[in-house]
Amino acid sequence: MRHHHYLPLLLLLACLFNCSGPKTGEKGVVIPNEVEVAVNAAHFLEASLVTPVETVACTLSDGTKSTCYKIISRSSPTDHQMGPWCPDNISDGPESGGIWIEGGETYDVDGAFIKNMAAFYGDDTWKMYDAEGNIFTTDTKEDCANAANPNVGPEYRNFCVECLPSYVTDITQTYLIPTTPVAGENTNLFARGPGGGIGLRGIAFNGIRFDGPAPTNAILGAYTLAPFDDAGGHINLHAGYHYHAATGVSKRLPQPDGHAPMIGYAMDGYGLYANADESGNTAVDLDDCRGHYDEQRGYHYHVDKAGANNFINCLRGAYAK
Ligand SMILES: [Zn+2]
Ligand SMILES: [Zn+2]
Repeated sequence: MRHHHYLPLLLLLACLFNCSGPKTGEKGVVIPNEVEVAVNAAHFLEASLVTPVETVACTLSDGTKSTCYKIISRSSPTDHQMGPWCPDNISDGPESGGIWIEGGETYDVDGAFIKNMAAFYGDDTWKMYDAEGNIFTTDTKEDCANAANPNVGPEYRNFCVECLPSYVTDITQTYLIPTTPVAGENTNLFARGPGGGIGLRGIAFNGIRFDGPAPTNAILGAYTLAPFDDAGGHINLHAGYHYHAATGVSKRLPQPDGHAPMIGYAMDGYGLYANADESGNTAVDLDDCRGHYDEQRGYHYHVDKAGANNFINCLRGAYAK
């Protein structure tokens, strides 16, 4: 962390030659640069990585030649267990299932939730259990692959979909994060597909990805349910284990001043912090990306609440191509 106590004087001197000053983002949001915080690679849990973090040359989305940390994740957290996702029976309690999100709220996927789905969604097609109360759950890798297909057939209607860690033991993920964030002139909106930017939001300290929104409409439209575990994660065969909600389970770095704890880094290298601080208070001065600035942390983001199916809305900084 660098503190420039003589910034006004420095800026004045700099202006004699090249009056740049702080970068202005979309809608004229100024990212102050008095405090710039470099990424601290030591925050990542070594056991969750395939190899120690390396520094490599990289080109950022704004064309800047820079250095990045190369993070090769095992895609399997070492600081908490994965699952459970689907309970076995409608008599099961919340410890036997994960969570679901609806309307900005999180719900325990316990037996009672499954039993109540027709009423919850106002649609009698929902009935995910048999006469003994046993819940229909995918139980092979093939089922998991089929049920995750957007054109899932009616044979998977009323299935609770869970893909198990044993299906994805060989998945690793490689990520590049700028070693020091570079404030962008433009806001990088999230999009998927070739040339469409970046879908991934950030990485937790255990190497697990904070992903874009889960396609809950497609999942529910097929009369399936693909719960997240209590850590907000689930598995697909391509991305492996990934988060759609930050529930405070993965490694957190408490802040001495009572600010919300740090939970990882966004893909532009700015810090990701929890939605709320220790007292449950949320920041009220966030910009469109869900970021703000303070003198301890520099510019940083606060992730959306766990039920929002969202982490942050855009990146203020450049990300690695
Ligand atoms: Zn997902
Ligand atoms: Zn903050």
